[in-house]
Amino acid sequence: MKYLYGPVKSRRIGFSLGVSLTPFKTCTFDCIYCQLGKTTDLTTQRKEYIKINDIVDELKFWFLNNKEEAASLQFVTISGSGEPTLNSGIANLIKQIRGITTHQICLITNSSLLSNPAVRQEILGADLIVPSLDAVTPKLFTKIDFPHKDLKINDIVNGLIALRREFRGKLWLEVMLVKGVNDDLRHIKKLKEIIERINPDKIQLNSPVRAPLKNNILTVDKSKLNKIKALLGDRAEII
Ligand code: SF4
Repeated sequence: MKYLYGPVKSRRIGFSLGVSLTPFKTCTFDCIYCQLGKTTDLTTQRKEYIKINDIVDELKFWFLNNKEEAASLQFVTISGSGEPTLNSGIANLIKQIRGITTHQICLITNSSLLSNPAVRQEILGADLIVPSLDAVTPKLFTKIDFPHKDLKINDIVNGLIALRREFRGKLWLEVMLVKGVNDDLRHIKKLKEIIERINPDKIQLNSPVRAPLKNNILTVDKSKLNKIKALLGDRAEII
């Protein structure tokens, strides 16, 4: 299989079959905590990086030949080793997955392109969207996510707020916390204000656990994570 991976059990969404929509490390960000290494194609250009029909062929084959595993799946998850909304065929893929299986569809995105109304429109067919938001000031956004130069954090926040208005499914916001980078409580308070405007169903707090491939990334310890969780309120959970 070239474009499918798993099924894998994840802390975030349970047992799911992954679908990759971009070539390896084709992304709008180059996050300091990325487990996949350096972004090799840092871009905001949308195109059909991988032909949707090729992905659909693999999905059909997988569901036909893995009936037992398929029965225990919780989601088909659009994610992969780059930013999936870069693929301009994403709406077509979501539609075609509906024709193959009744399983719920999850999209994991770094939120970078959500300021584009067309992108938001194209992903409305998912059941669950897990967008990420690591920082809410331009300085910290650059420090942790190393975004493409055309991306501005205020636009991304506005895109997330608009998505919440337009999307009827579940929205679980993920925040990746890196010790000494974005875990300062003053930043968390600013983050909280923004999250209240976004109004997600859940806030999932995460911190890198595996050794990263670059930089000296440090995990936020459990007691600090609990403090941040308490600050962010009832919808927050540590994953
Ligand atoms: S958005 Fe995801 S794939 Fe892209 S650099 Fe960050 S962690 Fe890696």
